[in-house]
Amino acid sequence: MPKETKIRLIERIPRTPTIESFRFIPEHKIDFLPGQFLELRFSPQDPRDRSLNKYLSFSSSPTREYIEVTKRLSSSSFSQRLRSLKTDDEVTISAPLGGVVFTPHYKKIGFFIGGIGITPAISIMEYIYETGLDTDVLLIYSNRTPEEIAFKDILDIWKAHNKNFTIIYTLTDCQPEDSTCLSGRIDKDMILRQAADYPDRIIYLVGPPAMVKTMQEVCNDIGCAEHNLKIENFIGY
Ligand SMILES: Cc1cc2nc3c(=O)[nH]c(=O)nc-3n(C[C@H](O)[C@H](O)[C@H](O)COP(=O)(O)OP(=O)(O)OC[C@H]3O[C@@H](n4cnc5c(N)ncnc54)[C@H](O)[C@@H]3O)c2cc1C
Repeated sequence: MPKETKIRLIERIPRTPTIESFRFIPEHKIDFLPGQFLELRFSPQDPRDRSLNKYLSFSSSPTREYIEVTKRLSSSSFSQRLRSLKTDDEVTISAPLGGVVFTPHYKKIGFFIGGIGITPAISIMEYIYETGLDTDVLLIYSNRTPEEIAFKDILDIWKAHNKNFTIIYTLTDCQPEDSTCLSGRIDKDMILRQAADYPDRIIYLVGPPAMVKTMQEVCNDIGCAEHNLKIENFIGY
């Protein structure tokens, strides 16, 4: 059952020109599973207020003493409230929420993800990295430009230190200068070339609904088994 609790801001980390992470210390420990999300309430007195109360995925492992969320900042009043937060400011959350999670008995997993959909993947991969699990992880991560690849610094470190992590970046709006980066959208051909063992993997399709829908169509096209798909839409995009 989700519980309401207060969290105190300790750090803000810009990830891209439009994406920022916010780290908080919770008043009470929050037991969540990697992949879950919370509701951040700037209007706790009116839980139905969808403009000031929003769902955000955890972008940190449950093994950390802080919790982190990461938002693509827009001109919305919620984003403005986030932007104005200062160290030691307190906000209310309700957590944990959501059933699209990772559990250690998944031995091979894959993410076909774009843009801000990376947040639950970070929570899951950080958890696997920090607990030393030998889970085989494949991340295919699509963005328009190199500047928009959130968490690239940390993903590159994980990739260099964990031989079970395969991380593939693909760019849709420009030719990558980096030779390890692919060009183009995640489609049937890319998955067959880069992830031929997809039938053995639990596949996570999470993020803005348009991207998730496209990935579902690709997965249908290549005949992914329904029971291997874990799908979460970031409703609100
Ligand atoms: C499970 C889940 C996890 C998410 N994780 C993240 C995350 O990690 N990072 C992140 O940036 N975003 C995440 N989101 C999306 C986030 O909750 C916001 O909806 C999104 O960031 C847009 O908010 P905004 O304030 O920028 O835009 P707004 O301008 O407030 O909203 C954009 C449009 O969406 C509509 N809308 C907003 N909320 C809803 C709603 N609940 N239902 C239907 N329509 C709505 C608005 O009316 C408006 O037209 C997640 C959403 C869900 C459901």
